[in-house]
Amino acid sequence: MSNVNECPECRSTSHVSMDNTIVCTGCGLILGDDIKYVSTYALRPHYRYPTKQPYVRIIRFKKFLDKLKCSEIFENMEKILTLFGVLEMGFSTFNKRKYFWTRQMVSKFLSEFIGLSVELRGLRDKQRTKEQMIQMKNVLTNTAKQFQVKLNDYFKTPP
Ligand SMILES: [Zn+2]
Repeated sequence: MSNVNECPECRSTSHVSMDNTIVCTGCGLILGDDIKYVSTYALRPHYRYPTKQPYVRIIRFKKFLDKLKCSEIFENMEKILTLFGVLEMGFSTFNKRKYFWTRQMVSKFLSEFIGLSVELRGLRDKQRTKEQMIQMKNVLTNTAKQFQVKLNDYFKTPP
Protein backbone atom coordinates (compact mmCIF):
# COMPACT_ATOMS: atom_id res chain seq x y z
CA MET A 1 0.00 0.00 0.00
CA SER A 2 2.81 2.42 0.79
CA ASN A 3 6.51 2.60 1.28
CA VAL A 4 6.37 3.75 4.91
CA ASN A 5 8.51 1.53 7.13
CA GLU A 6 8.66 2.62 10.73
CA CYS A 7 6.66 5.21 12.65
CA PRO A 8 9.03 7.91 14.00
CA GLU A 9 6.90 8.33 17.11
CA CYS A 10 6.19 4.76 18.28
CA ARG A 11 8.33 2.59 15.98
CA SER A 12 5.29 0.59 14.83
CA THR A 13 5.47 -0.75 11.29
CA SER A 14 1.70 -1.17 11.05
CA HIS A 15 -0.29 1.46 9.21
CA VAL A 16 -3.53 1.93 7.32
CA SER A 17 -4.83 4.27 4.67
CA MET A 18 -7.57 6.68 5.72
CA ASP A 19 -8.98 9.79 4.05
CA ASN A 20 -6.05 9.93 1.64
CA THR A 21 -3.49 9.73 4.43
CA ILE A 22 -1.40 6.92 5.88
CA VAL A 23 -2.08 6.51 9.59
CA CYS A 24 0.12 4.63 12.10
CA THR A 25 -2.12 2.08 13.84
CA GLY A 26 0.26 2.13 16.81
CA CYS A 27 -0.17 5.76 17.83
CA GLY A 28 -2.37 7.50 15.27
CA LEU A 29 0.40 9.62 13.79
CA ILE A 30 -0.15 10.59 10.15
CA LEU A 31 2.82 9.25 8.24
CA GLY A 32 2.12 10.82 4.89
CA ASP A 33 -0.27 11.28 2.01
CA ASP A 34 -1.91 8.45 0.15
CA ILE A 35 -3.99 10.19 -2.47
CA LYS A 36 -6.18 7.92 -4.55
CA TYR A 37 -7.75 8.81 -7.83
CA VAL A 38 -11.47 8.12 -7.72
CA SER A 39 -13.35 8.31 -10.99
CA THR A 40 -16.77 8.81 -9.46
CA TYR A 41 -18.23 9.95 -6.16
CA ALA A 42 -20.18 6.70 -5.97
CA LEU A 43 -17.00 4.65 -5.88
CA ARG A 44 -15.27 5.54 -2.64
CA PRO A 45 -11.87 3.92 -2.01
CA HIS A 46 -13.04 1.65 0.83
CA TYR A 47 -15.67 0.05 -1.38
CA ARG A 48 -12.88 -1.28 -3.53
CA TYR A 49 -11.53 -3.21 -0.53
CA PRO A 50 -14.72 -4.59 1.01
CA THR A 51 -12.93 -7.08 3.25
CA LYS A 52 -10.97 -4.35 5.01
CA GLN A 53 -12.50 -2.68 8.02
CA PRO A 54 -12.72 1.07 7.75
CA TYR A 55 -10.39 2.94 10.07
CA VAL A 56 -12.45 4.65 12.74
CA ARG A 57 -10.40 7.17 14.65
CA ILE A 58 -12.57 7.28 17.79
CA ILE A 59 -12.61 3.49 18.20
CA ARG A 60 -8.82 3.43 17.94
CA PHE A 61 -8.69 6.22 20.48
CA LYS A 62 -10.93 4.32 22.92
CA LYS A 63 -8.67 1.27 22.62
CA PHE A 64 -5.67 3.47 23.31
CA LEU A 65 -7.32 4.88 26.45
CA ASP A 66 -8.21 1.36 27.64
CA LYS A 67 -4.56 0.39 27.39
CA LEU A 68 -3.52 3.24 29.71
CA LYS A 69 -5.31 1.31 32.50
CA CYS A 70 -5.99 4.48 34.46
CA SER A 71 -9.03 4.50 36.76
CA GLU A 72 -9.45 8.25 36.48
CA ILE A 73 -9.68 7.93 32.70
CA PHE A 74 -12.12 4.99 32.93
CA GLU A 75 -14.38 7.01 35.24
CA ASN A 76 -14.45 9.90 32.79
CA MET A 77 -14.45 7.86 29.57
CA GLU A 78 -17.80 9.13 28.27
CA LYS A 79 -16.74 12.72 28.67
CA ILE A 80 -13.37 12.20 27.07
CA LEU A 81 -14.85 10.39 24.08
CA THR A 82 -17.56 13.00 23.60
CA LEU A 83 -14.96 15.76 23.59
CA PHE A 84 -12.85 13.71 21.22
CA GLY A 85 -15.84 13.70 18.87
CA VAL A 86 -16.18 17.48 19.18
CA LEU A 87 -12.48 17.90 18.48
CA GLU A 88 -12.68 15.63 15.47
CA MET A 89 -15.76 17.40 14.17
CA GLY A 90 -14.09 20.80 14.33
CA PHE A 91 -10.71 19.70 13.07
CA SER A 92 -11.41 20.28 9.40
CA THR A 93 -12.97 23.69 10.10
CA PHE A 94 -10.86 25.31 12.78
CA ASN A 95 -7.41 23.82 12.56
CA LYS A 96 -4.38 25.11 10.77
CA ARG A 97 -2.82 21.66 10.73
CA LYS A 98 -2.83 19.28 7.85
CA TYR A 99 -3.11 16.19 10.03
CA PHE A 100 -5.01 15.13 13.12
CA TRP A 101 -3.02 14.93 16.37
CA THR A 102 -1.64 11.66 17.75
CA ARG A 103 -3.67 9.71 20.30
CA GLN A 104 -0.97 10.38 22.86
CA MET A 105 -1.35 14.13 22.41
CA VAL A 106 -5.16 14.12 22.33
CA SER A 107 -5.37 12.01 25.48
CA LYS A 108 -2.90 14.30 27.23
CA PHE A 109 -4.85 17.37 26.17
CA LEU A 110 -8.33 16.07 27.01
CA SER A 111 -7.35 14.67 30.40
CA GLU A 112 -5.75 17.97 31.38
CA PHE A 113 -8.62 19.95 29.90
CA ILE A 114 -11.30 18.22 31.97
CA GLY A 115 -9.13 18.43 35.08
CA LEU A 116 -7.80 14.93 35.63
CA SER A 117 -4.72 14.63 37.81
CA VAL A 118 -3.10 11.95 35.62
CA GLU A 119 -0.10 13.32 33.74
CA LEU A 120 0.35 11.78 30.32
CA ARG A 121 3.49 12.25 28.32
CA GLY A 122 3.49 14.48 25.24
CA LEU A 123 5.81 14.53 22.26
CA ARG A 124 9.57 14.38 22.60
CA ASP A 125 9.69 18.02 21.50
CA LYS A 126 8.38 20.14 24.42
CA GLN A 127 7.72 23.18 22.26
CA ARG A 128 5.65 21.21 19.75
CA THR A 129 3.74 19.65 22.63
CA LYS A 130 2.90 23.11 23.93
CA GLU A 131 1.84 24.38 20.50
CA GLN A 132 -0.39 21.39 19.85
CA MET A 133 -2.06 21.73 23.25
CA ILE A 134 -2.97 25.32 22.33
CA GLN A 135 -4.21 24.27 18.87
CA MET A 136 -6.46 21.59 20.36
CA LYS A 137 -7.85 24.01 22.92
CA ASN A 138 -8.71 26.50 20.17
CA VAL A 139 -10.36 23.87 17.98
CA LEU A 140 -12.30 22.45 20.92
CA THR A 141 -13.59 25.77 22.22
CA ASN A 142 -14.48 27.10 18.77
CA THR A 143 -16.31 23.91 17.82
CA ALA A 144 -18.11 23.79 21.16
CA LYS A 145 -19.28 27.36 20.60
CA GLN A 146 -20.50 26.57 17.10
CA PHE A 147 -22.50 23.53 18.20
CA GLN A 148 -23.53 24.97 21.58
CA VAL A 149 -21.73 22.30 23.57
CA LYS A 150 -21.30 23.41 27.19
CA LEU A 151 -17.71 22.46 27.94
CA ASN A 152 -18.20 22.98 31.70
CA ASP A 153 -20.48 19.92 31.70
CA TYR A 154 -17.48 17.80 30.75
CA PHE A 155 -15.17 18.70 33.57
CA LYS A 156 -14.07 15.88 35.88
CA THR A 157 -16.72 14.16 37.96
CA PRO A 158 -15.98 14.92 41.62
CA PRO A 159 -15.18 11.67 43.50
ZN1 LIG B 1 3.19 5.38 15.61
